[in-house]
Amino acid sequence: MALTLVVDDPIAIYSGMVPGFVAGQYARHELEIDVRRLAARAGARLIEARALRVDPRRRQLELEGHPTLTYDLASLDVGSSVAGLELPGVREHALSTRPMVRFVRRMHELIDRARVRLPGRPFRAVVVGAGAGGVELGLCLERRLAREGAGPVEMSLLEAGTRILAGAPSGLVRRVQQVAAARGIRLSCGARVQAVEPGQLRLEGDQTLPFEALLWVTGAVGVALVRDSELPQDERGFVRVRSTFEVVGHDGLLAVGDCATFEAFPDLPKAGVHAVRSGRVLDHNLRARLRGERLRAYRPQRDFLTLLNLGDGTALGAKWGISFRGRWAMRWKDHLDRRFVEAFQ
Ligand SMILES: Cc1cc2nc3c(=O)[nH]c(=O)nc-3n(C[C@H](O)[C@H](O)[C@H](O)COP(=O)(O)OP(=O)(O)OC[C@H]3O[C@@H](n4cnc5c(N)ncnc54)[C@H](O)[C@@H]3O)c2cc1C
Repeated sequence: MALTLVVDDPIAIYSGMVPGFVAGQYARHELEIDVRRLAARAGARLIEARALRVDPRRRQLELEGHPTLTYDLASLDVGSSVAGLELPGVREHALSTRPMVRFVRRMHELIDRARVRLPGRPFRAVVVGAGAGGVELGLCLERRLAREGAGPVEMSLLEAGTRILAGAPSGLVRRVQQVAAARGIRLSCGARVQAVEPGQLRLEGDQTLPFEALLWVTGAVGVALVRDSELPQDERGFVRVRSTFEVVGHDGLLAVGDCATFEAFPDLPKAGVHAVRSGRVLDHNLRARLRGERLRAYRPQRDFLTLLNLGDGTALGAKWGISFRGRWAMRWKDHLDRRFVEAFQ
């Protein structure tokens, strides 16, 4: 048997520590996973190339700048992209969280801009998208800029929906609102961006909002590989899979993590918790397929622990509808995150 791993970048980023990196709590190497070393340990051939298309009937994977691969059994784990990148000016003027390796590599440019601007002038940072990722990044960036910038910081979080942290317990939402109010961070719901121009956002209703730095954290949509392939997919561009990760209607192809949507749980949030927990079941199912044995079903946990880094040495958490905040919560998050990432480093 020959095992091949295809990745577009040999460095994988552990997203759980990205807000802490933005806050200046972690160095870049602490959240990076060297995929080359992992592949070598697993005895897998590594191909560093972007996968362009999968043809599930011919069992072929088309690669950029590399000969097409033919497979007997394949698993897609290509993650997600960010919604709204096609709006005018977003790719040119905003820093989007996907691809995450690019986000992390370019963060220093933003911090450098805040350091060298004219003293006394406020540095206006805007985060578009106030789900868990946007809120955490906004709060962490605000602390970093307050500490390292050359003057006052004006931070705004814009959300197109009617509330921040959609789906989160109301106690957690209230605590975030309190933290934002105490730091002078503006939270605006019902604010839909139409276009980004150099130094300003154009919002629905023809309002404008100036910025020096713009983060784009608008939630997950499917990646080009899925959109460009003849795969069963939902309206957001995620591959439709059974609870065994088998792609609906295609033997020999599985999909996991953000890029897949379970037929049985179409509303399951795109979260690393599920991607990570899927690993064991995927491992079992790939081996079972090769041996002609029964595949296992993945049963997603509905309620998982949420821990948001607030960038000031504290974290906010929620579980079973109960929310909490403290330095101890941040120490706990740090411990869990480091334990996870170090296992792969
Ligand atoms: C700022 C931020 C913080 C987050 N924090 C948390 C958290 O604390 N807890 C949590 O549960 N979730 C969190 N998430 C969500 C979490 O990051 C995702 O759910 C998780 O990364 C999904 O894992 P994945 O393996 O499916 O995809 P990814 O981790 O995105 O991995 C996909 C990989 O595929 C590669 N790839 C993509 N396209 C191609 C291609 N065409 N060819 C070859 N390779 C390709 C990518 O480079 C990447 O390495 C966070 C998200 C963000 C944006």
